[in-house]
Formats: sequence, structure tokens, C-alpha cells
Amino acid sequence: MAATVLPLGMISTGEDPIGTAWAWLPTILLTGVAATACRRAATAPGLHPAVARLWRSLAVTLLLVGLAKIADARRWLTDPVQAAEGRRDLPTSLCLALALAVLLWALLRLPADRRGRRERTARFVLDALIMGVTILTFGCYAASRTSAPISLRTATVPALMVTLAGLIVGLALIKVAMTGLGGLDRGTVRWFVAAGLIGPLGRWFKPLLAEAAPGLGGGQLFTSLTMVCVVFAVDRQLRAAGVPPRPVRQRPYSVAPYIAVAATDGLLIRMGTQAGRPALIVALGAVALTLLVAARQIGALRENERLLQRVDQSLLELNDSQQELTHRATHDALTGLANRELLNQSTGKALAARNGAGFSLALIDLDDFKAVNDRLGHPVGDALLVAVAARLRGCLRADDLVARLGGDEFGLLLHNLTGSDATDVLDRIHDALHRPIHAQDHELLVRASIGLAESWPQATQEELLRRADLALYAAKDAGKGQHAVYDAELGRDQAADAQLGAELRQALKAGQLSLVYQPIVRLPDGAWTGLEALARWRHPVRGSVPPDVFIPVAERTGLILPLGMWILHTALRQFSDWHAEFGTAAPHSISVNVSARQLREPAFAADLDHALTRSGVRPDQLIIDVTETVLFENRLALKGLHQIAEMGVQVALDDFGTGHSSLGLLRTVPAGTVKVDKSFIDGIGGHSAEAVIATALLQIAQGLHLNAVAEGVETEAQATTLHRLGYRLAQGYHFSRPLPSEQIHHHLANDTARQSA
Ligand code: C2E
Ligand code: CA
Repeated sequence: MAATVLPLGMISTGEDPIGTAWAWLPTILLTGVAATACRRAATAPGLHPAVARLWRSLAVTLLLVGLAKIADARRWLTDPVQAAEGRRDLPTSLCLALALAVLLWALLRLPADRRGRRERTARFVLDALIMGVTILTFGCYAASRTSAPISLRTATVPALMVTLAGLIVGLALIKVAMTGLGGLDRGTVRWFVAAGLIGPLGRWFKPLLAEAAPGLGGGQLFTSLTMVCVVFAVDRQLRAAGVPPRPVRQRPYSVAPYIAVAATDGLLIRMGTQAGRPALIVALGAVALTLLVAARQIGALRENERLLQRVDQSLLELNDSQQELTHRATHDALTGLANRELLNQSTGKALAARNGAGFSLALIDLDDFKAVNDRLGHPVGDALLVAVAARLRGCLRADDLVARLGGDEFGLLLHNLTGSDATDVLDRIHDALHRPIHAQDHELLVRASIGLAESWPQATQEELLRRADLALYAAKDAGKGQHAVYDAELGRDQAADAQLGAELRQALKAGQLSLVYQPIVRLPDGAWTGLEALARWRHPVRGSVPPDVFIPVAERTGLILPLGMWILHTALRQFSDWHAEFGTAAPHSISVNVSARQLREPAFAADLDHALTRSGVRPDQLIIDVTETVLFENRLALKGLHQIAEMGVQVALDDFGTGHSSLGLLRTVPAGTVKVDKSFIDGIGGHSAEAVIATALLQIAQGLHLNAVAEGVETEAQATTLHRLGYRLAQGYHFSRPLPSEQIHHHLANDTARQSA
């Protein structure tokens, strides 16, 4: 054995076939080591499954290569002549073909990067062609330098095959680098490219090597080098495991084609030098040309890159303005808080997360905000809203959302907050708002009503909002500056409301509703001057349902519109009948109660006119009773009231004195009568405060030439006192309870009979 073992499987073989066969041993061992290393790399943590699969396939590939090398070594022992010619037997070729197939299959199964795929593919194919042509040029040059003629039997064809295979693998590896998969380190890919290129290059340079160092066995040397590269690649992969890949720095152009051009230019010059002066001149010209074209191309590519950078910059700016627009679309311009849209979005997200449960939604409504706007002007109102927004924000945690829903309405989304924790926040809000707020030189005291609803598993946005809304109304009902939390009872009230509404609709059709009439009398003799129509509902199961209960339900459900028209028509027809029958002995006026919902209806005045015409009652015989709270809350209702006043219909302010702007209203409402509330009449005896107020109210009414009616007179003493105070009109149980139409008829008939007698 004349083999001398050199490091890394470089083995001097001499002419001894057995020695050559043994010389393959280190190469085979190295291949085994590389295969094992690849197997290990497949288990590196954090690897993309596709990359792990690639490593496993590589291990199989190398195993197959190892087998081919063993077969090669065996051939040197059994058939040294063929082996020396470089021909392979079938098992070896099969192993190698299989190895290549496994590797290619694994590489092709890697998912490709979607972005700019067509351009990348085109560039990739061009680069591949450039590299292929360059390698081929050098290969042919190297082959032509050897003395052996190019023949299919010599190493040229196998060298071409290996080159092709290596190229395919190398290019496939470049594709891997382009896939941008996490886990496959770029250093690893470089080592692979080196491994893929060593084989083909080695093949071509084998003759040159044989010329330069006749003792070195090229095959072993290059295969061993390939395996060393693979081992380095594995090492890089293992070290890169778990470390996030560095972002790829994109060059505007690939250097590979230029290296190829430069190398070929070098070759051209060398050949030109050898071939004489004219050839050298042509070669130099060609080289200069390629360099100029390359320079021009690089210039164009750089310019392209600058353009792209500018586009990037514009995109960034576009993005900024888009964000600005999104902010505007989701925020309130005045307070800077989120708007209803954003609150809805966030509620939707909160519901989607964690199955909907575990957070609370609150709705806030400022009490009497409208009065601030009306009396102090909108700038003060705006300043107040801004200050309230700041106070609200100050009461919440950073991740809670506070939104302005419009006007004086706000919404809160309290994440992970329910039960007493949530109501604690509401207490904090009440406290914060109760401190005086400074708005444009005004010290204002604000109070808010708050309704809160907790989310529940499988909650829907609509239902959650509805519950919060219900709670808000309950809070408002409870008085100012209160909060209410939705509970099942509130829900039941609501359901009961809906039920009663449905039954009321039926009642109207089924004739369960009727009117009773309470006389308005003259003091001191008690003669009837007018009648007030009051609605009654005799329910087949519930019995008598008081109007205090069913009128609000009718208002909430909108049923008050048909119901109100029915009341108006019935009362007017009745009144007109009595007039026809009893003439001047019948009362002079008929009062009908009307709610805000009816007054807001644009057609109300026209409907009323129609009802008057149909019944033949004169407008001045009809008195419309409205409560002052109704008017204070609603401009539209006030407009409706002016329309009917213009028709000549009288307007009476009901429950006068109980609202908070009674006197103010007298300036804006076209009222002809005030009905002083029962609460002042109740305590009227002696020198009580009520007596003082009742007297003052009467004086104001007289000063403004209004009629004053004392409501709820229950005793003789009250009637006497009221008369002494100056009241000339009264209404109450003391004179008569509200009576059904038959009894009114009976009374009128008796009266007429008495008078004629
Ligand atoms: P209101 O307009 O203030 O009607 C007067 C209420 O006081 C009536 O109650 C009447 O029965 C009651 N009342 C009269 N005199 C006395 C008295 O001496 N002592 C006491 N304790 N009560 C007295 P009612 O009929 O139950 O009506 C309650 C409220 O329901 C009415 O208050 C009115 O606001 C509303 N309402 C009744 N009928 C109608 C209607 O047809 N349409 C509308 N929109 N509301 C109506
Ligand atoms: Ca009334």
C-alpha cells in the first residue's frame, strides 16, 4: 500500500488500485459523519418543519452518497481498469441518482416566498444561466488544457453530469435562501452552496490538479471537502437554533453575475495574451465593453433602488395620513375621546375574547346639561363637556375605554371589572363630577346618571347595550346623580312593560278603554265650568289599570299616538253631544291630557283640527293639559304647542309648580291656564309654606292674565281657604270624583230640570 494519508482525506494514491480503494476510507467515514450531523441538525429547536424535513432528507442523501463511495472503493478492488477510467457500475450510479432525487425532492417541497415570485424566478433563472455558462466556459477551457482528447469515454461526460447535478443542487439551495424561512441560517446556506459547488468544480479541475500534483486523488479530496462543508453547515444551523434570523439586507443587484463576467473577462485576457496582439486587442475591447455595460447596469439598478426608497418613504407618509384618518373616524373631535364607533368595535372585541364574559359597559348621561347649553350658551356647554371628559378619564385605568357617544352621553368599557369593583368606579365618577367644574368663567355643578351592565357568557352587543340603557333609565328614574346596575328584576320590568304594551294594543281594539270626566268647578258655589277627560282601562284579568301605569307604557311603546287620538275623538264627541242636549247648561270647556310624544308628532295640530271639525266643538272650548317637565325637555313639543295655540285651542300647564322652571316656562309657553299642583293645596291651611306658594302662584297667574285652577281639593276647608286666597276655579274629590259619562249625563239632566223648575 503506497497510500500516504493526508489530512481531510487527501490521499496520495500512486498507481496502486488497492491503495486507491483504501484511500476512499476516510472519505467514506467523513460522509458518515456528515450524514449523522445532518440527522442531528434536524432536531435543532425552533426549526420550521419544512427545514427539519430538509435536514432529514440530507442525511438520507449523504447515506446514499456514502454507499456509492463504498461501491466505488469496492470497484477499485474488483475491476481497477474500469475504475481508473472513471466509469461507474449500476449500483453506484443508482445510489447517486437516488441521492440526488431525495435531495431535490426535499428542496422542492420547501414553501416558496410569495412576494414578487415571478420577478424572483426570472432573476433566479438568469443568474443560474450566467453561472452555468461561466462554469461551462471554464470547464471547457480546463478540459482543452489537458492532453487527453475530449471523448465520451473519458471524464468529460461524467464531469458534465456532476456539474449539472451540482448546479441543480446549488441553485435549489439558493432557492432555499430565497424562501426566507425562519430557522435555516444564512451561513448554513452559504456552506451548502460551497458544498454543492466543490464537487463540480473539482471534477473540472481534476485534470489540472493531476497536472499540478500528480500524487493527489482528486475524487477523494473534493468529496471530503464537500462533507467538511456539510459539517460546517450543520454547525452553523445548530448555533443559529433559537436565535431569530437577522433581517436580510437586500442589495439592489446580485453580485454573482458580475463575478462571473469578471472571471470570464480574466480568462479572455489570458487567452488574448497567449494568442497574439490582434486577439489581445479584441479581447481587451470586449472586456472594456462588458465592464462599461456592467457599470451602466449597476448605475441603473442603484437609481432604481433610490426610487424604491422614495416610494417606501411615500408609503410611510401615506400610512401616517391613513392612521390620522382612522383616528379621526374613531374619535370625538371636541373631547378627543373615542366615539361610538370605537366603543362598539372595542365592545365587539371584548365580547369575542374570553367568550364574552368578565367586563362591564356603562352609559353616562349628564343631568340638566341642556339647561346649561340653553342658559349659558354652547361654548360653555362645550367647555363643560371637555372638562367632564377629562374627569372621566381620570377615574379610569389606562386600558379602560371612555367614549363620547354624542351630546352629553358618554360610554365606558371597563375591562375585567364586574360587581362591586365596577360600582366602585361609578362612585369615583360621581365624586369626581360633584366637584365644581370651571367652564369659561362659570363654576358649574354637574351630576350624572349612570347605567351599568355586566357582560355574560355568549352575550351579544345589542343586548349588552340594551341592558346598560335600561339601567341608565332606571338611574334617571331614581333621581339625579344616581347609578343603577342592570339586574334580572330590571329586565323583568322591561319585559312586563312589553307585555303590558301588547295587551294595551289589544285593549284599544277590544273596547276595554273608556273615559271618565272630572268637573272643574267655580268657587265658591261649585258650579261646573268644565270637565277633564281621564282615561280608564278595565283589564279583564288585572282589573282596573291606573293611567299612571299604562300611559307611560303607551308613551314608551308609541301606542300613545293611536290611544291619544281615540281619547281626543271620544272626549270631543261626548262634549259635543252634551252641548247639543243641554245647551248652555253644559260645561263650557273640555280638558284633554296630551303627552309630549303626541305634541312632537308633526301631524298633531292637523289631526286635532280634524277632530274639532268632525265633532263641531269650537277650538276655544278645548283645553289641552300638558305637564311642564314635558315641555322643558323638548323643543319639538313646544313647537307643537304653539301650533295648536295659534288655532285658538287653550293650553293649560298641568301640575304647575312642581317642575324646576315653572316660572320661566310662562314666558315661552302659550298657556292660558295654570293648574296649581295638588302638593301645594294639600298643606294650604294656616301660614304654611304651601299657602305662601299657592298665594304667590295665584298672584303671578293673575298678573299674567292666566286662569288658575287649584287641583286636588279634598276638603271643604281647603275650598274655603282657596276662595279666600283668591282662587276662583278648583278641581278635586271634594266637588266630584271623575265620573263615567252616564253619571255626568245624569247630573246635567238633573241640573237642567232643577233650573227649568
Ligand atoms: P292629572 O292630569 O294631574 O289628572 C288628575 C289626577 O288627579 C287624576 O288621576 C284624578 O283622578 C286625580 N284627582 C283629582 N282630584 C283628586 C283629589 O282630590 N285627590 C286625589 N288624590 N286625586 C285627585 P288619574 O285619573 O289617575 O290620572 C293620573 C294622571 O294620568 C293624570 O294626571 C294624567 O297625567 C294622566 N292621564 C290620565 N288620563 C290621561 C289621558 O287621557 N291622556 C294622557 N296623556 N294622560 C292621562
Ligand atoms: Ca290633567
